[in-house]
Amino acid sequence: TSFGFETVAESIKQSKVSSVFTSVAPSYDTMNDLMSLTIHRHWKRQFVQLLDPGTPRGARPQTILDIAGGTGDIAFRLLDHATDLHADHASRVLVADINPAMLAAGRARAARSRYRDSGRLSFLEANAEDLRAAGVADASVDLYTTAFGPRNFTSLAAALREAYRVLKPGGVFAMLEFAKVGNPAFNRLYKMWSFGVIPLMGQVVAGDRESYAYLVESVERWKSQEEVAELVREAGFLVPGEKGWVDFTGGVVAVHRGVKP
Ligand code: SAM
Repeated sequence: TSFGFETVAESIKQSKVSSVFTSVAPSYDTMNDLMSLTIHRHWKRQFVQLLDPGTPRGARPQTILDIAGGTGDIAFRLLDHATDLHADHASRVLVADINPAMLAAGRARAARSRYRDSGRLSFLEANAEDLRAAGVADASVDLYTTAFGPRNFTSLAAALREAYRVLKPGGVFAMLEFAKVGNPAFNRLYKMWSFGVIPLMGQVVAGDRESYAYLVESVERWKSQEEVAELVREAGFLVPGEKGWVDFTGGVVAVHRGVKP
């Protein structure tokens, strides 16, 4: 029933996620650099290179939807890649996020960027699990991206259903998210960093230990690469490659892709 424990747990998770991101929004970009020793930049660059967004001159431009796009980190990189590598000045990115504070930081960045007044970058308040409510039409998107958002969703399966709905046939779903490290020795070091160092950094730099402890826990509780690949397939996507995903940094993060048939 709609009053079951699950619904209560879900709404607690949603409000927790919302307060965490409102609280981290101002220091978000700096903290990402510190927590990951700037490696998140490398992951995001690799992610975008793998997707190779943009189309050659004369071809139909792409409509890209970046879900849980936050301050626009992925969106700027997608546009830079399309513009600089393909001389594509027409493909567009819509950044969608559930949190108005993150979107506000993104809009401020956009206003200072080379894309101000280009009409190529826009922002939308939306829940990944219900894009219909935000007005995203069926079969309207060529490329759906999401980075470091999915582990905050109440239901990845629901978000995948929405991704499938809004993508055009032949459109691509792509997700970059924390994953599971294979090598036990490397995993021990990584856990020492996550549990020992990151909350302390949050406390010292952002004055907010609790939010960063939450971020570490949400990574710990998150799914394995196999589980995510299975959900992508269950949503109806064709999963490319033998393994079905690509690990970066020994599985600290992974990219999952799916093609809508
Ligand atoms: N993609 C950006 C990046 O890589 O820098 C931001 C990632 S940030 C860790 C996670 C974002 O997910 C936050 O901005 C948060 O507001 C957003 N988020 C969490 N749950 C969401 C949901 N159900 N729908 C849309 N966005 C969500």
